[in-house]
Amino acid sequence: MALTGLEIYKQLPKKNCGECGVPTCLAFAMALSSGKAALDTCPHVTEAAREALASASAPPIKAIKFGKDSILGDETVLFRHDKTFYHPTTLLIYVSDTLSDDELGVKLQEIKDLQFERVGLEYTIDGVAIVNDSKDAATFAKVAEAVAKATDKSLVLLSEDPSAVKAALTPLVDRKPLIGSATEANYEVMVNLAKENSVPVIIKADGLEALDELVVKATALGYKEFVLDPGSRKTPETLANLTHIRRLALKKKFRPFGYPVIAFTSNTEPLEEIMEATVYVAKYASAVVFKTSVKAHVLPLMTLRQNIYTDPQKPIQVEPILKSVGNVNENSPFYITTNFSLTYYSVEGEVETSKIPSYILAIDTDGLSLLTAYAAGKFEPEKIAEAMAACGIADKVKHRNVIVPGYVAVISGKLAELSSWKTIVGPREASGIVSFSKSLAK
Ligand code: SF4
Repeated sequence: MALTGLEIYKQLPKKNCGECGVPTCLAFAMALSSGKAALDTCPHVTEAAREALASASAPPIKAIKFGKDSILGDETVLFRHDKTFYHPTTLLIYVSDTLSDDELGVKLQEIKDLQFERVGLEYTIDGVAIVNDSKDAATFAKVAEAVAKATDKSLVLLSEDPSAVKAALTPLVDRKPLIGSATEANYEVMVNLAKENSVPVIIKADGLEALDELVVKATALGYKEFVLDPGSRKTPETLANLTHIRRLALKKKFRPFGYPVIAFTSNTEPLEEIMEATVYVAKYASAVVFKTSVKAHVLPLMTLRQNIYTDPQKPIQVEPILKSVGNVNENSPFYITTNFSLTYYSVEGEVETSKIPSYILAIDTDGLSLLTAYAAGKFEPEKIAEAMAACGIADKVKHRNVIVPGYVAVISGKLAELSSWKTIVGPREASGIVSFSKSLAK
């Protein structure tokens, strides 16, 4: 159970020196109890108090690292707009050890091809979960080794047979895979195997009560590198379990659930499977294992993940510079837009589609979208005129026409006055650029 502010206060030095950043020990105790402060910021706390307060100062969801650079958990809020989410859901492709050599080769090539670029960022799948469907330890180890040779992505070794996990893990221990699953029947052997090899382990039980009990028993073995699997493979039940676990970990500081959670899809039809995975990415899986590795299926899931895990206080931005699209010349049209990535790349994409080489100047709006930037005074004629003068567009084109986004047509007059360029009101939406640019070229 989490300690109350007053219980924490009793353990503090009561110097009220303010070195922790708040004026009194009581205020610091309250901040600590609500997870808004770290115990280390008080330099006077005694070792005895530190031990007593360990549970109050520990992060509500432990960070678990495995594989290449996968970090699970370490989240502090239920809703992204409360602060931010830190570690994007780790996406793992299910690879069965019953695949033939040829099927495995095709699967691994598909996984390798899962590379995407969106709004200027490159992203890919995080890892592979090798599953011991064959129930044979030697086959499992052989397939795990083949996968490890083919990819440097993070690995998960999944079998409820500890001897199969051991056979696959031993040659791959340097890759620090996540192993599993420790169940009521095998948890002592499986947790000790994880402990001996310093790798994290999945604790799996059917339902939250059973999971709570199993985590407590596994913790008593002196190891805490856990990822939780609440067992259900039905979407509504899994969603409810994931939500309860996150709520109990954050709101009640319920320690047995203070670990990241892994979810597994069960739908066999790929599009339904991806829809199921989106539910788990949205709430609150730290890792999701799914079967499809077809690019068109995986892209929407990765897009959703990117959107959810973008810090709402730091919009994705492009560099606010003049960019040329295509083989520009002195007659090329000249557009202005904001440096919010989604807006900028929508404009750039439509300009590319128009096949009319053009210049685009991204105005520095701190990554705000067009109307938000205008309302915030960050897309104003004075600022745009300055940016136009500084970017050197006047030396690159012989005309003096600037295309202003239709939604902010209101700035046209002032911008023309300040820049001495003729302003042309462009389409409101980027999707109108193709027909607009063609009418301009006539
Ligand atoms: S630094 Fe420690 S002793 Fe000083 S006010 Fe903060 S909690 Fe109290």
